[in-house]
Amino acid sequence: MQETTGQTSGDGRTTGTARILAMVAMIVAYAAAGAFFRGVLKTDYLWSHLGYVPIVFACAWWGMRGIAVVPILAAVNVPICLAWGPGGGWWSVAGRAAAFLLAGICVGVVSERFAAERAARKACEDFYRALSDKAIVGIAVCRRGEIIIANPRLCAMLGRDVRELIGRKISDFLDSRDATAVGGMLEGIARDAGAEVRCECRLRRGDGSLVWADVGIAPFSSGDRDGLLFCAYDITARKEAEAKRVELTEIARRQEDILVHSTRLAELGEMAAAIAHELNQPLTGIRNYAKNAAFMLEKGAGSREEMAENLRQISAQVDRAARIIGQMRDLTRRRERQFAPVDVNAAVRESIEFLMPQFRLTGVEVGMELGRDVPKIMGDRIRLEQVFLNLLTNARQAMEESEERKLKVVTRSEPGDVPLVAIEITDTGRGFGEAERAKMFTPFYTTKKPGQGTGLGLSISLRIVRDHGGTISAEGRPGRGATFTVRLPAAPGEEKS
Ligand code: ADP
Repeated sequence: MQETTGQTSGDGRTTGTARILAMVAMIVAYAAAGAFFRGVLKTDYLWSHLGYVPIVFACAWWGMRGIAVVPILAAVNVPICLAWGPGGGWWSVAGRAAAFLLAGICVGVVSERFAAERAARKACEDFYRALSDKAIVGIAVCRRGEIIIANPRLCAMLGRDVRELIGRKISDFLDSRDATAVGGMLEGIARDAGAEVRCECRLRRGDGSLVWADVGIAPFSSGDRDGLLFCAYDITARKEAEAKRVELTEIARRQEDILVHSTRLAELGEMAAAIAHELNQPLTGIRNYAKNAAFMLEKGAGSREEMAENLRQISAQVDRAARIIGQMRDLTRRRERQFAPVDVNAAVRESIEFLMPQFRLTGVEVGMELGRDVPKIMGDRIRLEQVFLNLLTNARQAMEESEERKLKVVTRSEPGDVPLVAIEITDTGRGFGEAERAKMFTPFYTTKKPGQGTGLGLSISLRIVRDHGGTISAEGRPGRGATFTVRLPAAPGEEKS
């Protein structure tokens, strides 16, 4: 850049010197023509007009400064007039000098205006070139499908020299996966001249690697020039971050599924005693009815109808045991999230039924007030049941040391801008203070004995409820029980369950 400037000023000096020499030659020629015309031809015709030639050149080259030649030319007249007498008198000499001055001023003004316009145009071009050079977007101008201008940012994005871009087509640099889509857009622009298009696409760099770009293509026309303006903003970093985030979200989701599953298994482990107790009842029934039927057969006692009744009872007890085992299997099964309309009352009822053996075993009195007008919600029923099971189990465990063991479960609809369904679980357990309340939703916070609590139940429940667009709040007082309230948005268009 600096080298170019030095050359330009050197060229300027050479031109300046050549012009001065040319000017001296023209003045000398004017003087010689004066001597020849006045001395030999004895006439003023023609030579007096020759003076305008150096004036026009001087003012075209140097603007108003060129007027400096006017007094020199006027002075040339003096010795000629003294030698051969003034042609039209001294007044005519003075008039010629005034005409020279007028011509010089006119040419000087016009030439300076041209020079100012040229300078302004150049400054404007330099400004737009600097903008294009410093732009943080890659810019190319295409005419008849070929690139005719490319800025440095586009060259850097594509990892190519500007000479490798000029004359090529934009489509030469598109990744094959995006070529069809972008080609279709370019055709759209060709059909509808005013259209502008924008898309995210992959461009191929010189070294074969890919760069993601947010591309805008717009037709333009300026004077007699028209073509396509192509702007590309490098979004590779954003695209990579997005891909990473999706990958991490998927990993987090899988981890959470595993955690939910593990806490469920932990709960089941804790419930083993209650389940054994629950299964014991149908098994005892089956044994008694079977013994009874065998006795009747051996001794020939009892009617056919009594024997059939025993067998029916055995079948009913088998069904009951199968139901308990089925529920356990459902609870332990790991599965993908499935969102569908959920009847909250039914989910709450099922969760309570599932834990009923434990409630019975530990003497917990369960009260239910399930609202009739509770709308359905959109959610994953199994995951929501996991939340209810966790809150109900926590409530039961919190009442282990209490004399009064009352559990109350209420569901109701809460109208509003976003209609909600509230599920309230209140216990008469040990409760908690403000400090504990602030910590209980953080993972691994537990006050339970080692082996009894993982400290994950509430944090997982909170995640599940938030996944459903809902909230969980906890209220309690030390020694005075606790209330946990889950609020979930009603499914759109659902009025009643
Ligand atoms: P975990 O039950 O494995 O300890 P949670 O995240 O479910 O883990 O609960 C964290 C803690 O919150 C419990 O250890 C307990 O101290 C407190 N907590 C939860 N529910 C209740 C409740 N109903 N009453 C009193 N404290 C509770």
